[in-house]
Amino acid sequence: MTTAAYELRCRECGRSYGIQPLSICDECFSPLEIVFDLEAARSRFTREAIAQGPLNMWRYRALLPIPENYDPQTPAGLTPLMKAPRLGARIGASNLYIKNDAVCLPTLSFKDRVVAVALANAQGFGFDTVGCSSTGNLANAVAAQAARLGLKTFILVPSDLEPAKILNTQVYGATLVRVDGNYDHVNRLSSQIADRYNWGFVNVNLRPYYAEGSKTVGFEIAEQLGWKLPDNIVCPMAGGSLITKIKKAFSELVALGLVEEKQVKFFGAQATGCSPISTAVKNNTETIEPQRPNTIARSLAIGNPADGSYASRAIRASGGWAEDVSDVEIVSAIQELAETEGVFAETAGGVTTAVTARLYAHGRIQPNELTVTCITGNGLKTTDCLQGAYEQERAIRPRLSDFEAYVEERSSISQALALAGESNVR
Ligand SMILES: *Cc1c(COP(=O)(O)O)cnc(C)c1O
Ligand SMILES: [Zn+2]
Repeated sequence: MTTAAYELRCRECGRSYGIQPLSICDECFSPLEIVFDLEAARSRFTREAIAQGPLNMWRYRALLPIPENYDPQTPAGLTPLMKAPRLGARIGASNLYIKNDAVCLPTLSFKDRVVAVALANAQGFGFDTVGCSSTGNLANAVAAQAARLGLKTFILVPSDLEPAKILNTQVYGATLVRVDGNYDHVNRLSSQIADRYNWGFVNVNLRPYYAEGSKTVGFEIAEQLGWKLPDNIVCPMAGGSLITKIKKAFSELVALGLVEEKQVKFFGAQATGCSPISTAVKNNTETIEPQRPNTIARSLAIGNPADGSYASRAIRASGGWAEDVSDVEIVSAIQELAETEGVFAETAGGVTTAVTARLYAHGRIQPNELTVTCITGNGLKTTDCLQGAYEQERAIRPRLSDFEAYVEERSSISQALALAGESNVR
């Protein structure tokens, strides 16, 4: 028996599994989820206790599934919640915020949060080797944090991953295994490896612990809004876990009285080239039809999402919606976000920004509603999608006259373009 304030439970049949490295119910093969005894956590999870905690995600540790005396080594999370007035003006939003996990430490994506919780448990369960199957960001986060904790690491990725994400994994000394196939193939292989070698795979046998790490995005949004819930959340979806866990975080905050109850609408964002969840939402169903991914948004390219049906259910129950956007729209949204708010997001951020714009354009979100759009990864990891977008101009000599000639030339080009009816000169 354990005295911990949480346990693993089957999402469908409710069978309890205590605390162990397991993610699927033996009885009904449904996913397992961490359930907290909220009453037991009540006295430790207060606004005051949180305010006195560290300036990172561990300030919410009373509602994170980690071993009792665990001493966290990774100060992940507590990323900026930024007002976005200039992007808002472009898309018709007057009360828009960006949750900026493009600057989440240590590896510049929200995956640092989930990995921090998963590896705490890998250590607790005594695994000396950890791994993951990844579309990129998870690989970076596991490799970096495992290095810091002194764990051995095997990471499996689809062979066509962006070069920056591959380098960002190898530099930490992880063993990177490129697999000829898409993420769904890689994931199936990972499950077999985790079983065979008894390793801790963060998104296989440690997945329920991993998933809870995403709640910290929701806790932070509420705290940063002054312990208030927003009207709307716009969130990118790959496996569909993050969006459901932000919702779970909000429910826990309401249950413990840290925020007033409110019906928050959840909006999911995908790339059209891999849109199994947004398609299910549009068809008003929980049944996910797997797809073969074909999009530049590789971090979201999961054709058979593990939490897809839960995400679809959560979105529809909230009164929200889901949209998907083309690769061309993704690239221009990356540029628009950077030009208006100074935030350089990866392709997933382009997806979220383009979907956010469309939700306002279609009247799914009203201009004055308090809306938070979740930017989850950094643009420096996916610069290949901007290849050719900006020309390298010839260098000038280090002379003022050369500079003046350059400015002159630029302004006549701008004028010519303006005359030709171009409104937006880069
Ligand atoms: C993994 C990932 C997501 C989505 O996460 P899920 O919980 O699998 O839906 C979103 N954005 C980025 C950048 C990611 O790497
Ligand atoms: Zn079950």
